[in-house]
Amino acid sequence: MQACDGRVGLKMQEGFDVAIVGAGAAGLAAALKLTRAGRNVVVLEARQRLGGRAFTFAARGAFPLDAGCGWVHSADRNVLVPLIEAAGFAFEKNSVNWGRQSGDQGFSTAEQKEFAEAFEAFDARLAAAALKGTDSPASDYFEPGCRWNSLIDAVSSYYNGAEYDRVSVLDYGAYVDTGVNWRIRQGYGTAIAALAGSIAPRFDCAVTAIDHNRVPVHLETQQGPVSARAVILTVPTNILAKERIAFSPRLPEKIEAAAGLRLGTAEKAFLLLAQPEELPVEGHLFGRVDRAATGSYHTRPFGRPYVEAYIGGRNAEDLIREGEGALSAFAFDELSALLGSSFRRRAMPLAETGWARDPWALGSYSHALPGYAPARSALAAPVAERLFFAGEATHPSFFSTVHGAWESGIRAAEEALAVLPAPAL
Ligand SMILES: Cc1cc2nc3c(=O)[nH]c(=O)nc-3n(C[C@H](O)[C@H](O)[C@H](O)COP(=O)(O)OP(=O)(O)OC[C@H]3O[C@@H](n4cnc5c(N)ncnc54)[C@H](O)[C@@H]3O)c2cc1C
Repeated sequence: MQACDGRVGLKMQEGFDVAIVGAGAAGLAAALKLTRAGRNVVVLEARQRLGGRAFTFAARGAFPLDAGCGWVHSADRNVLVPLIEAAGFAFEKNSVNWGRQSGDQGFSTAEQKEFAEAFEAFDARLAAAALKGTDSPASDYFEPGCRWNSLIDAVSSYYNGAEYDRVSVLDYGAYVDTGVNWRIRQGYGTAIAALAGSIAPRFDCAVTAIDHNRVPVHLETQQGPVSARAVILTVPTNILAKERIAFSPRLPEKIEAAAGLRLGTAEKAFLLLAQPEELPVEGHLFGRVDRAATGSYHTRPFGRPYVEAYIGGRNAEDLIREGEGALSAFAFDELSALLGSSFRRRAMPLAETGWARDPWALGSYSHALPGYAPARSALAAPVAERLFFAGEATHPSFFSTVHGAWESGIRAAEEALAVLPAPAL
């Protein structure tokens, strides 16, 4: 690994086997694989930190909070589980019942059962439609007039970052989720950062242009030019779709694929509780059950004195447009309606995310728009044995997750290794 120390200035960086663009889970996995195979690698990262959408922070010096990923999904098949364990972290294996309304606030036990059955039936119709192989918006499979359609759409706004009218049936059907969800007390972002080991990305080093007609490939970065025999791109799809990196020659098929694998919007607001005992540990509340524009509230995660509000889809897009504080204000409105207006005096805003306006993400996680399920493999395909594509959106079945991103980084590194000449002894 050739570490970059940020003092390179405008001098051309020559001689890298592989330049990896992005130090999120995919970029780190690729860097580890290539470094272990004896390759000379540089990791170019726009931010001042690694991890990308895996990021744990301590709000006001309090407990760790995951701004991005928090759940180790499909933990029984998750490639990261043994790595995280080997790095010394333990897993919390208890989960939350996301369909449950703690205390039955505004959502009776009978209604919760009805909702669960409606969702199950909807999911079964989607699975059957996916088997037929013809794509359409998942919302086509709502039961007309069903009173739970809005709440089912709310769940989609958390799960996909978009309501079902913007979700491809085939893509939704391709996602693999074993239903085993674990967590890490210190944060998923902390664990991913720990896996980076000796990988030392070059920070504040956004890549702005890539000339892949040249051999070696020529990259323009905020810190000057870099050249490498191969490039692995791991940046989020919205960055590619908005052409924040100019390819020469242009890559219209990649840009179209990335646009079809749009990052949805899913955001979090954390509210600190003055009287935590009023809410259950690991409890759950929907803000409203009669509209899609509602939050999902996880009360007292790990027994800690806060609520994690999860807000997605068009509602989250609108709130992000309103500016900082709007997500927390929305959460307070909904929770005050459920728990009494004095809730405002019993809690305070702790932090909120803004992935949709984050210039290096522009969204949360990918879902394929109707008609774009094949875009995942189209985006993943290498270009001229010089450009390789990784990142969560390129995974065929674990897309939108950290373990999917990690596996994609390994896959891209293997593709690059297959075409690079053997390292000099
Ligand atoms: C709110 C939220 C909740 C989530 N919850 C979960 C969860 O519970 N479980 C789960 O498994 N997943 C979850 N995810 C998804 C998961 O975090 C991502 O799928 C995963 O981290 C993506 O990794 P990646 O390497 O593909 O992309 P990223 O982590 O986005 O890495 C790409 C990197 O590229 C950098 N970059 C961008 N542009 C440039 C440029 N021009 N030049 C150089 N660098 C650039 C970025 O700064 C970033 O560091 C969640 C995400 C969000 C936002």
